Amino acid sequence: MSHSRSFWSLLVILTIGAIVLFAYFGKQLSGEPALVKIDNFQLGTLIEIQAWDNSLTETEVKAAIQGAFGAISDVENTMSWNLPGSAVSRINEAAGIEPVEVAHSVIAVLSTAREVSELSGGAFDVTIGSVLRLWGFSTPGPKAPPSPADLAEALDRLDYTAVELTATAPTVYLRHVGMQMDLGGIAKGFAIDRASEKLKEAGVSNFIVNAGGDMFVSGNRNNGTSWRIGVRDPLGGDSLLCKLLISGCAVVTSGNYERFFDYNGKRYHHIINPKTGYPSVGCSSVTIITSRAEFADAVATAVFVLGPERGLDLIERLEGVEGLIVSSGDERRLPSSGFGQFLHGGSLDE
Ligand code: AMP
Ligand code: MG
Repeated sequence: MSHSRSFWSLLVILTIGAIVLFAYFGKQLSGEPALVKIDNFQLGTLIEIQAWDNSLTETEVKAAIQGAFGAISDVENTMSWNLPGSAVSRINEAAGIEPVEVAHSVIAVLSTAREVSELSGGAFDVTIGSVLRLWGFSTPGPKAPPSPADLAEALDRLDYTAVELTATAPTVYLRHVGMQMDLGGIAKGFAIDRASEKLKEAGVSNFIVNAGGDMFVSGNRNNGTSWRIGVRDPLGGDSLLCKLLISGCAVVTSGNYERFFDYNGKRYHHIINPKTGYPSVGCSSVTIITSRAEFADAVATAVFVLGPERGLDLIERLEGVEGLIVSSGDERRLPSSGFGQFLHGGSLDE
């Protein structure tokens, strides 16, 4: 009797053990390495990192992702204009007074910014800060367009050629009193690149660093197929503009729906034309695909400001850059000549 009871007890224990083991190693048995997904709120948006690697344990992948979030924090602490003590705050406070010592990363971002300013004839301009503060997109409370007199005064202080970079020191100097730098059009892309480098340094080869729809994509999904990326339709809703199959590159979108306010029945959004001081007209969204998120971010903003025709021209002139512009009003979709290679199904209607 007692023998048969211990037999049944043993059988129950073994069965439970087998179930637990199967649940634990099930993924590996099915040939699918575990995909680790962690979310974090940074840079004013939800950052989602998904990663996996055959040569690493789940714990190692998690640690690598935390390292990537750390890199994003570093960028945020350095490049936010509204964080006291950040490099950008210090540069703005010393405008017209003296050069400010900064980390090499600031010089790197400002060099890319300068390059995109020159490529776009000043459509991209990080000295847009004085104008942006008047619009107050990122401050709480009711909003209204600034007065033409205030805008004219702020526009006087807008000049990317008056940003002096000394790479050897390294220092940054804004030449005129009242100039204000704002890296909102490029810092997120730079942070995505830094996070991606951290993951690669930790040996992770398959991942997506997704910062609110802007991302870097590496390797494949854990089932061996390509990562599929949905690009949001600027008209809103759940519908997608297109689905992309990409790897080893960044996808960044600038849209008029990201930050805006309505005043007297008119919508005012956060991408400003440096020539007028007003929100840029002509595009609803611009999606750029290229190897670095930092460059993609700046080019997306620049193309948005240039408008559909001149914007498409710029994309076509840049090697290794493809893009999709949605024009405002008629919502026409204008892909660059090589954009189709990234489209899931090969055409925009898929
Ligand atoms: P994005 O979503 O990358 O197009 O960036 C938009 C952000 O870039 C805005 O919220 C501003 O912080 C900044 N920005 C707006 N207009 C410009 C401009 N013409 N050049 C550079 N940065 C800009
Ligand atoms: Mg941008």
